[in-house]
Formats: sequence, C-alpha cells, structure tokens
Amino acid sequence: MMKLTRTVGITMLGIGLLAPVPAAQKARETKVQPDSLSAKTKRFAPTEITANASALHSLDRRALDKIIEAARYMDAIFLRQAWSGNAALEKKLEQDSTPDGRERLHYFRINMGPWSRLDNDEPFVPGVPRIKPPGGSFYPDGMTREEFESWIHTLPTTERDKATGYFYVIRRGPDGKPLSVAYSDEYRQFLEPAAKLLKEAAALTTNETLKAFLRKRADAFASNDYYDSDVAWMDLDSPIDVTIGPYETYEDGLFNYKAAFEAFVSLRDDAESAKLAKFSAYLQDIENNLPEDPKYRNPKLGTLAPIRVVDEVFAAGDGNRGVQTAAYNLPNDAKIVSEKGAKRVMLKNVQEAKFKKTLVPISQVVLSAADQADLSFEAFFTHILAHELMHGLGPHAIDLAGRKSTVRLELKDLYSAIEEAKADITGLFALQFLIDKGALPASLERPMYTTYVASAFRSVRFGISEAHGKGVALQFNYLTELGGIKYDAGSGKFAADQAKIKDAVKQLTHELLTLEAEGSYQGAKSLLDKYGVIGPTLKSALDKLGGVPVDIEPAFPLAAKVPGPRR
Ligand code: ZN
Repeated sequence: MMKLTRTVGITMLGIGLLAPVPAAQKARETKVQPDSLSAKTKRFAPTEITANASALHSLDRRALDKIIEAARYMDAIFLRQAWSGNAALEKKLEQDSTPDGRERLHYFRINMGPWSRLDNDEPFVPGVPRIKPPGGSFYPDGMTREEFESWIHTLPTTERDKATGYFYVIRRGPDGKPLSVAYSDEYRQFLEPAAKLLKEAAALTTNETLKAFLRKRADAFASNDYYDSDVAWMDLDSPIDVTIGPYETYEDGLFNYKAAFEAFVSLRDDAESAKLAKFSAYLQDIENNLPEDPKYRNPKLGTLAPIRVVDEVFAAGDGNRGVQTAAYNLPNDAKIVSEKGAKRVMLKNVQEAKFKKTLVPISQVVLSAADQADLSFEAFFTHILAHELMHGLGPHAIDLAGRKSTVRLELKDLYSAIEEAKADITGLFALQFLIDKGALPASLERPMYTTYVASAFRSVRFGISEAHGKGVALQFNYLTELGGIKYDAGSGKFAADQAKIKDAVKQLTHELLTLEAEGSYQGAKSLLDKYGVIGPTLKSALDKLGGVPVDIEPAFPLAAKVPGPRR
C-alpha cells in the first residue's frame, strides 16, 4: 500500500516537472536558502490531536480504522491536485537523506507542495516555478483565465456546467483543445481502493446513518455524482463523524470552481453539539435583521441546519495542509444548500490546541495586560461557531436583472476572501444582536471584541494569499479606519474601541452583503485592493510575533498503526 503513491506518481507526471518550463517562468525561478527552513517549520507547533475511542462499539472501532485507511488516499489525490509536479517532486525529496533534505520533505508535507503557504506561496525547494500555478492541476499547465472563458462560451450548457463544475478537471485532448474529465476517471486509481475501504467500514458499523453515507460516498467515487451522498452526509448522525471527498474550492486560485479532496475523521461530542444547536433557533431572526437592503434578505431559510461538535482523530488532503481547519460548513453545492441547508462541523480539540499554542502567546504581545484578562476560549469558540452559521445566511443564489446566478460564480477568484470576511464580520454582528436581545449574556461582549482583535493577528499571520488571511486583513484595516480598532503607538498595543466597534462592524457587514447580493466583482476587487493588505502598523506588530507558533502540526496517534498511502 505504501508504495502506491510513489509508483502511481510516475505515471501521473505528464505535465509539470518533465515538461519544458517556459523561458519567462524559468527566469523568475529563485534560489532558496534551506537554512531558513527549520525556522519556517517551527511555526507549526507539533501537537497530538486525538480523542477517546474506547467508548465506541468494537465493530465501530474496527470501522474507524477502515475509514482512516480510506482517508489516507485523499492525501494522494490532493497532492496531485495542488500541482502536477508534486508527486514526482515528493519522490525526489524522499531520496535525499541529508538533514537539509529531510527538512525540505517535512516542510513539503506540511504545505502539500513546494510553496510555503504562510509566506505568500514563496517557493522553498530549488528549481520549482517561482509562482505557484494558480489553477493547481485542475486546469492544463499554462491555461489562462481568458483561454478558459473564451472556451466555455463555445460550449453547450451541459458541457459548460461540467467545465465550471466542482468535479471535473480540464485537460487537453490530442488536438490541444481543452476538455472536461470527470474526477472518477482522473483519480480512479485512488478512488477505487478508497471506495472499497468505505464499503468494508459500512459493513462493520452499527450506525445506520454512517452505513448509508459510507456506501453512497463509495458509489459517488465511481459515478462522479455526489448528490445522494451529500444528502446522506447531511443526515449523518453517528458517534463516528466522517467527511471524505471533494469539497472546498480554495485550492483553485483561477476560478474557485474545482473541489479539492479532503477527509476529516472525528468522534462526536454530544453535549457540546446539543448546546450549540440551540443557536440555530435564532437564524431566521438574524437574517431578517441583517444590515442590508430588505429585498436581499431570505424570508425563509432552509430547514434547520444541523451542527456537530466533534474531536478530530485524523485529517487528510485539503483538510491537512498548512494551517489546520478549525471548523467547516458543507456541502458547498448551492442546490443542496437551498434544499437542505448546510451542516456545520466544529473541530473542538483542534480549536483548543490553536487557542493554547497560538492565541494566548499572541495576546501577550498585542494586547495590554488589562485586555489580556478578557481573552477567552469561550468567546473564541462562540465566534467560530457564529462564523460557520453565517456562511448559511446572506446572499447565495442571486438574481441579476432576471439572470439567475450565484455569488460564487460572479465573484470568481475573489469569492473565498469575500465570503470568509463576510462570515467573520456578520458573525460579530449576529452575536451582538443576540446579546442585545438577551439571548446571550452581556458579559460576552467585551471578551468577544477583545478576543476578535487578538485573533485577527493569528489569521493574518497565515499570509494574505490565503482567503481567510486576506479577508481578515480587509476587516482589520476597515475597522481600524472607522475607529473600531485602535492602536497605541506608545505601548505598541491594540484594542477594540468598545464604543465604536459595533457601528464599524455593522457598516462592513452592510458593504460585504451588498456586494454579494449584487454579484459585484468590481466592488469586491476595489474593497480587497484597498483593505486586503498589510500596512506598516500591522506589519510592525506581526514582526514582533516572530517566536510565537503560527499554527499546529497535528500528529494523529489513533491513525499511527493504520495502513494506507502515507503523505
Ligand atoms: Zn469560513
């Protein structure tokens, strides 16, 4: 099994490393200092991420191992999606047993590629293109936005839907013309064994909803039709919580159209799930009061969306590269979201690990001693919850003078940064709304804004090439301009201005929701160009955080003995 990634890597090369590099690109290649790599790697604090599996039924415990084994294939697929040259490069790095070589391989695996995600995708392996290909290997190497767009305009609707769809890569036919290839064909050698393992797990588990999801997802790997299994995932309610398949589109920097493979394998936290589900009762009320033109509000939100709080025991692929996911909201398919809503999964043990290893030390640098007392995991956790809930509110399917579209399609490559910023800022708006209603304690208010300000530094340190980081820079600069965040040059400390931040949050919420409702690419672009940047004050504060880990590098004890292709 362990050889699978390597041998398949050679046959899947084709483009990438072996193809001639265009002269212009070659000239931009850089020499990298391997000495700085260990400092780069140390930004990820090694942390065990696990949970107590001893309460599981013995059959479920065996199913868990099968699911983890299947999940390992998501690493192999994602590696290839991120760049066409990754599999061959990994093989090459594995053969270098010098300390520098081992360091490169270690950091390559953290990033799932030779570009440092925390450093605006700067390359750290000599000889690779200086610019990370924005379209990964979802599109043929060198394909531009313009070529793709003029091509899809020649296509009939069904073919155009595939070309812009989640589950098709674009390749070139023998005639050099672009064509759509289903994921089920492109990644068959990984999806077939993964599907087999999911079916074995389905035969073992005692939980009917898990059985149904695993079987349907295994079928989807072969049919390329994810609808039934996404619906089954929405209904999944099991001690073992599994998310596996193609989901997020962040890795497609050209259009945000293509889904990257990932897996999260977790154990459910029942008490926390029940507590958080309570918030869902207020969603329609929040939607009805969003600071936007009432005509953009959704008078009837979809069915009450389930919330799960879980402890992660294994993550793979897009779910385990660079900065670790703390929570997610799926599926992304607008059709299912409008029919069934979306499900939120909160990875509580990952969030606690991040809070302890990064946010506490950051607060000691950027907040005054008095404000540090307001730093709170409860506030941190509640805001992440609100962030996830707010992805489900606001505009999604939109009507542009009679033309039906979605925010995602209209905002293209800017969608992720805008949608993430919207979820953050609307999250603050919503929590304030619930505090004002008395649904949340007033004592949450100060810790909420103070923890949010400290947390902004944590996010922007991820680099602004990544959607979350860029979206947070946008919020930070916008709120600072309106006086909601203040900076004391004497002490070098930042603080929330508790009097001004509420109005500032409301104004930015209005701005983001409106440009989403209008599907305004230009509006998104000017907002991000102006505010999605790191200015001198922010930069000097970030410089002081040098010694603080940026994130965690998870180790998964429960997966240690499970076979399958390794990263
Ligand atoms: Zn989000």
